[in-house]
Amino acid sequence: MTKEHGKRWAVVTGASSGIGEAFARQLAREGYDLTIVARGRDRLSALARALRGEYRVDVEAHAADLTDTAGLHAVERLVAQHRDLDLLVNNAGFGTFGRFDKLDVDAEENEIRLNVLALVRLTRAALPAMAKRKHGAIVNVSSLAAFQPGPFNATYAATKAYVNSFTEALHEELRGTGVYVQALCPGLTRTEFQDRAGIDASSMPDMFWMSPEDVVGASLAAMRKGELICVPGLGNRMLSSVTGALPRAWVRRAGSELMRRVKK
Ligand code: NAP
Repeated sequence: MTKEHGKRWAVVTGASSGIGEAFARQLAREGYDLTIVARGRDRLSALARALRGEYRVDVEAHAADLTDTAGLHAVERLVAQHRDLDLLVNNAGFGTFGRFDKLDVDAEENEIRLNVLALVRLTRAALPAMAKRKHGAIVNVSSLAAFQPGPFNATYAATKAYVNSFTEALHEELRGTGVYVQALCPGLTRTEFQDRAGIDASSMPDMFWMSPEDVVGASLAAMRKGELICVPGLGNRMLSSVTGALPRAWVRRAGSELMRRVKK
């Protein structure tokens, strides 16, 4: 994609539904040209057409499986070769739920590949040009699950803890370079995530649920303020403050009881 002077360009992974789609819509509304990435080519192309029509921006749909080495490398090249990337949103991710010894090990591996490896490699692909231009932003979509171990979603919580630790470290490394990073830590958000993960979270109180649009609004507001960790929503911020203040063993045990209930 060649960029006209003054236009901004963003790459959003996992843009065909949920939080990623909300990022794509909001960024297009703000005038960003976009490259959107996910596996499902039809949904992605339909979204690209809709955004081009509605907001008069350039939108390139790039179908790729980011757990697949060739698919990931192709997106890395795309990110690295464009010298004028303003924003990378590492959003694609999924969760597996259940007792670890009973889960499919290949799905666990793919969860680490997508939630961690793809995010690390795409960040690495984006940063050199951003640092050179002294301009650019990376939003790494993490989760409230990052803040404590997650019994019955052990791998998922560990991947998100990695995302927070990694992003916080980069924040310090990049101090003074003009490049901004954010770890976005949503709580329960109404997307396809829960269905794909095979959990029934419908018993969770309404106050803990957010729309993907509100999550994205909070992330972009935090970006404007230069905040490193964004926990969207008052309910989620209260929850994370309370769990942060309690003994870790209590939080682990309570999380375990909760997950026993929501697992379908
Ligand atoms: P979602 O609606 O299931 O969206 C996931 C997106 O990722 C889809 O566009 C999906 O499209 C894409 N994707 C999945 N596997 C992929 C792969 N192998 N390669 C490339 N793209 C892939 O879920 P969501 O809630 O919006 O999730 C987005 C992020 O938010 C995730 O990182 C998740 O961990 C995080 N999060 C969600 C919640 C929540 O409650 N929803 C809470 C905290 C954090 P395709 O299937 O077409 O590839």
